[in-house]
Amino acid sequence: MRYPKAITDLIESFSRYPGIGPKTAERLALYTVNKIDKENVEKFMKALIDTKETLFKCPVCGNITDVDPCYICSDKTRELDILLVVEDARDVIIIEKMNRYRGKYHVLNGVISPIDGIGPEEINLKSLIQRLQDDKIKEVILGLNASI
Ligand SMILES: [Zn+2]
Repeated sequence: MRYPKAITDLIESFSRYPGIGPKTAERLALYTVNKIDKENVEKFMKALIDTKETLFKCPVCGNITDVDPCYICSDKTRELDILLVVEDARDVIIIEKMNRYRGKYHVLNGVISPIDGIGPEEINLKSLIQRLQDDKIKEVILGLNASI
């Protein structure tokens, strides 16, 4: 006995997310089928599609944005000579919520990890070096987790 194709497709889709194993994916799929009404499924679908149609990485800092450049890069009230290098967009949100840092960011969108096949070319490193040569950066802060 197998699930209908719509459910196996949904299980497969949920399985692609980090931290979601096959059992959790199955539970989420069945929950969707049994507990989520069509209107909310359509809202979810629209939210998913919007992430692909309206969002992109800021060409200046690499943060996820829907405007070019992002709100932080275009904010003239921020300190232009301090650059905080972070791993991903979540770090920017966390630091911005603290409301203490007023400099600019550079989002690497990952870290170098040879074991995962991620080298310098796979992260937003080249544009960091370019910014350091072009912009008037006086201080660079590495806001990264301690790792090799
Ligand atoms: Zn930006």
